[in-house]
Formats: sequence, structure tokens, C-alpha cells
Amino acid sequence: MNNFDINNLVRENVKLMKPYSSARDEFEDFDTADMIFLDANENPFQNGVNRYPDPQQSNVKKVLAKQKEVQPNQILLGNGSDEVLDLLFRAFCEPNTDNIITLPPTYGMYGVLANLNAVENREILLSNDFQPQVEQILNAVDKNTKIIFLCSPNNPTGNSFSEESVIELLENFKGLIVIDEAYIDFSEKKSWMDKLDNFPNLVITQTLSKAFGLAGIRLGICYASAAIISVLNKIKPPYNVNELTQLRALERLNDAEKIKSEILSIIKQREQLLKVLVDIKFVEKIYPTEANFILIKVDDANKRYAELIAKGIVIRNRTTQPLCENTLRLTIGTGEENKKLIQVLQELN
Ligand SMILES: *Cc1c(COP(=O)(O)O)cnc(C)c1O
Repeated sequence: MNNFDINNLVRENVKLMKPYSSARDEFEDFDTADMIFLDANENPFQNGVNRYPDPQQSNVKKVLAKQKEVQPNQILLGNGSDEVLDLLFRAFCEPNTDNIITLPPTYGMYGVLANLNAVENREILLSNDFQPQVEQILNAVDKNTKIIFLCSPNNPTGNSFSEESVIELLENFKGLIVIDEAYIDFSEKKSWMDKLDNFPNLVITQTLSKAFGLAGIRLGICYASAAIISVLNKIKPPYNVNELTQLRALERLNDAEKIKSEILSIIKQREQLLKVLVDIKFVEKIYPTEANFILIKVDDANKRYAELIAKGIVIRNRTTQPLCENTLRLTIGTGEENKKLIQVLQELN
């Protein structure tokens, strides 16, 4: 990847635009402790959240940068990964002109955001063992292909993509490779984070919604080169991550032991459920998983889905997804919930 220049990928209007300058952007270098802030039309009476939040979320980024061994300027935070992904479309994909490539069956938001942004979504199915078909993918690339989305471990299949195929794509595609690592903390495979310096076209997204147990606060994270992050920073809404979210994220990020123990517990429950599923008569296939869910193929997904609902258990029916006929996706719950699920599965026939 020599001569990679992010400016060749940025939309013309984004290159030309001036970012919104928020009141606080101008004061980040001052010692603000004794200052009187009459600049942002806030209510002056303190209640903890009467001020606008830090637009650069410096405290959260400082902790993440340390934990992930990157620079704070290689991090962009968003209102969930969904916002981060949307910003990637808006920065790099010209509506009605550019295209992206996704690999179904995969996370639905890439396609939704492509539609929303009027960007063509070229779908190249995964192989039968749910791996990227690299040659087909590269054949689908043209001069307007801006982003290839790789979800690894992949939702809803649960597997991660082979290192060789990801490397081949990183080396041969001149646009951005986004690796969505929402489930990386449940996998034994290494994150792609330590490859950021090797590949200027690599973008990694992670989230506090799954392993970190904070789906409710909406915090998505994008790691990339400082050059890519500065483009995204330029177009993000100034106060996209609210104060309560920043505070709660900080608190949780500093509780590494608790997070680790919850992840271990989820993995333990996953392994137990995998063992039990082997003996359930209507389960025809159990797909290998490196995530906090298991994809199974059953005799009749619609029927089994309805039966479980009737027993008070909601799972995800994936039968309409390509390569996923009659599959169900089971999220790993607590030990108690897992026990109930197992009991119900064993009673059905
Ligand atoms: C759950 C999930 C996310 C998380 O999205 P947030 O908006 O951060 O909650 C991202 N990508 C994939 C593939 C997911 O399954």
C-alpha cells in the first residue's frame, strides 16, 4: 500500500467544507477551572449536566488510547457504532456515484446505511464456510468502490475471517477496509488493532455495546490513522457523545476486572450450551462461534422460533438471510437464563 493518500477518497464537499466550531473547541488549551463561561447560552445553575459535553471526549479517549496502545488522535467516538459507520459513508461515499462492498450474511446496518446514503451496496456472498471470497470481491471493485466492510467475528455466523483473506484484501484494495470488531473480546483471535500502523487503509470499529455491557449508553469507537480520523472529526456532530455516556464509559473502562470476569462467564456459558445443543434432536447443525451468540440450523426455524416465544424466550430467527435457511441465533445470557433455555430446548420435540 504505497502512495496511499486519504484525500483521494474523501468526498469533494467534505474536503471543501469548514467544520462547525463549537464554543468549547476554542478553549481546550486553557486552564478552565476559574473561568466564567458565558459563551454557549447554557443554563448557569449546576446540576452535573448543565454544560455541553467535551466535543472531543478527551478523558474517554485517553483511557482507550492507553488500553489499546494507540494515540488519542487515532480514535473517533460516536453515538454507537451505527453513527461511526454512518460518518464513514458520509465522509467517503458520494451519493448516487460511489459503491461499497458487503459480504452477506452479515450485520444489517451496512446495507441500511448504504441505502440511506444513496450508495450502491455490492453484495458478495460469503463462502459456504462463511469466509470472504477474495477473488470475487476484488473483481467487484471499480474506481468508485470506497469501502469494503468485513465483520469479524461475523454477525450472525459467529466465525472470524481468515487472516490470509483479510491481508489479501488490505493489500489489494485501494479504498478503506473497515473491520467491525464488535465481538472481538469473545474471540481468542487477535484484534487487527496492532496492524493499524501497517495498513493506512485499515479502519477498525469496536463498541461498548457487547462485551462491555453498555448497549444502553450508545458508545461506538473507530480506530484508524490520524489522517482518517481527522476527516471523520471534521464532519461529526460537535456534541455527538453526551456527558452521561462519557461518564459511564469512563467508569466502566476503569473496571477491567469486572468486564473480564463477565466475558469469561459468557464464554463458559457458551461452551456449555454448545455441548448441550449436540443432543437436541431438531438441531441439525451448530456453527463454530467466537462471539457471544451461537448460530444453529434447525429442522424448521419459524416453528422453533414460535415455540420458544411461547415459552417466554426470544431469540433471533435468521432464516431469511442468505446461506442461513432455517437458522436461529441464540445470544448467551446469564447462567440462570441459559439453564432455562436448555430446559425448554430439551422439552421441545
Ligand atoms: C451489535 C453490533 C454492533 C454494535 O453497534 P452499536 O451501535 O455500537 O451498539 C456493531 N456491529 C455489529 C456487527 C454488531 O453485531
